[in-house]
Amino acid sequence: MADHASSSTPNDPAPQQEAAPDAQPVTQPSAAPGARPAGPRLPTALIYDVAFLDHLPPPDFPEQPERLRFAMEMIDALIREGTIPAELVLRLAPRLATELELASVHDVSYIRRVARAVEKQADEDAMSGETGSRELAHEVYISAGSMRAALLAAGAPLVGLDAIAEGRARNAYALVRPPGHHARPHTGMGFCIFNNIAVAARYAQNRHGWRKVLIVDYDVHHGNGTEEMFYDDPDVVYFSTHQYPWYPGSGASGERGAGPGLGATINVPLPAGSGWSVYDPIFRQVLWPVADRFKPDVILLSAGFDAHWRDPLGEMRLTTPDFSDLTMEVIEMADRYCDGRLVVVQEGGYNLNAMAQCASTVLVALTGGDGIVDNLGQPPPMESRWNEEAIIQALYELHGLAGYRRKARQPWTRPGAAAPKASEPTERS
Ligand SMILES: [Zn+2]
Repeated sequence: MADHASSSTPNDPAPQQEAAPDAQPVTQPSAAPGARPAGPRLPTALIYDVAFLDHLPPPDFPEQPERLRFAMEMIDALIREGTIPAELVLRLAPRLATELELASVHDVSYIRRVARAVEKQADEDAMSGETGSRELAHEVYISAGSMRAALLAAGAPLVGLDAIAEGRARNAYALVRPPGHHARPHTGMGFCIFNNIAVAARYAQNRHGWRKVLIVDYDVHHGNGTEEMFYDDPDVVYFSTHQYPWYPGSGASGERGAGPGLGATINVPLPAGSGWSVYDPIFRQVLWPVADRFKPDVILLSAGFDAHWRDPLGEMRLTTPDFSDLTMEVIEMADRYCDGRLVVVQEGGYNLNAMAQCASTVLVALTGGDGIVDNLGQPPPMESRWNEEAIIQALYELHGLAGYRRKARQPWTRPGAAAPKASEPTERS
C-alpha cells in the first residue's frame, strides 16, 4: 500500500479547469528500482507522439487533444524533477500500423473507408482554408490528421511489444489517442477508430509467439469491440470491469464467449457508485484466479481513467491511488506469470486533471515506484454500499474459479477514506 505522504511538489501543469479540493498535488518519489534480483531494472517504454494531438473532433467533444497534452506535460515535469527517474523511462516514437496488422481484427473495407473519409476532409480543408471535422460513425469524428493519429495509436503498442521482446524495456505505456476498445471489426464507435489493444493482441501472438494474451480493461465503459473480436478465441482472455448498465450497453456477466472461446470472456458489470471497496476485491478474488488459471504469456491493459470519481462520463468512485493499486495488481500478475511483460494502452479519461494524474501515477507504477500524483482527493461519502461479496460469489460460480490463486481481501476502507456505516447495506442481486 502506498504511503501518500507528501515529499515534493512538482509544478502542476494541469489545466485550471476546476478548483482542486486539495491545495497541491501530493507526490512521492518512486521506490528504488530493481524488483528482479539479476541486473539493473529495465526501463518502461513510453510511447507517445504529438501527432496524436492532430486528431481533432469538434471543439466541445469530450475526447480532446488536451487529454494527452496535459498528461504529457505532467509526466515531463515529474521526470524533469526526478520524481520519475529519467533512466527508467525509454521514450519511443510510435510507428504506423500496417493495413495487414489492422486487418488482423478489422475488415479491410472499413480501414479503407476511414482513409477515404479522412482524405475527403483534407480536401475540404484545402478548399475552405479551415480545419474541419466530420462524423465517421456513431460518436466518432475525424479530421485531416485523424488517419495518421489512428495508425500511430494502433502502432504504438506494437513498438512497446517489440521493445519488451528485444530486452530494451521491462514493460510499456502507449499513451495514445484516439482510444480503441469500442472499435468493432467493421466500424468505429464511441470515440474509437481502430481497436488499438486488439491489434496489439494479435501482433503479440503473430510476431512474438506470445499465444496466450490476457486483456484487462478497467475503463468505466465495456470494451464491446475488444470482446467481439475475441469472443470465440480461447487464447485471448478478455476481463472487463465496467459500469452497468451504461454505454455501450453490452458487458453483462452472461456474455462469456462462444464456441472454443466460451469462458474466455469475463465481464464484471458493476453498479454506478462502485469504488475501491468493490474493485479491489474483484481484482484480488476474481482477476487473480482468472490469471492463475490462464497463465498468460503477455498482459495488455486497457487503461481508461473514466471510472475516476471526478470523471464527467462515468459514475464510479475510484480515486487516483485506487488506479495505482489496481495497476500494481496487474503489474504483479505480469511479474508472476509472464516475466513482467505488460503493455498499458490508453483508453478513456475525460477529466483533464484526473487523466493527467492517473497517467502519471500509472507510469510511476510501471517504473517500480509506488508514489501517487493526486490533488483530487477522495469522493464524498456514499449513502449506501454494495454487497460486493454477492457479486464476487456469482462470478466465482459462473466462471468456475474455485481452486485458483486469489488474494486476501483488504480492509473495507482505505486509510483516510470516508466510509458509510456498515449497518446500512444495500443488497444487490
Ligand atoms: Zn471509457
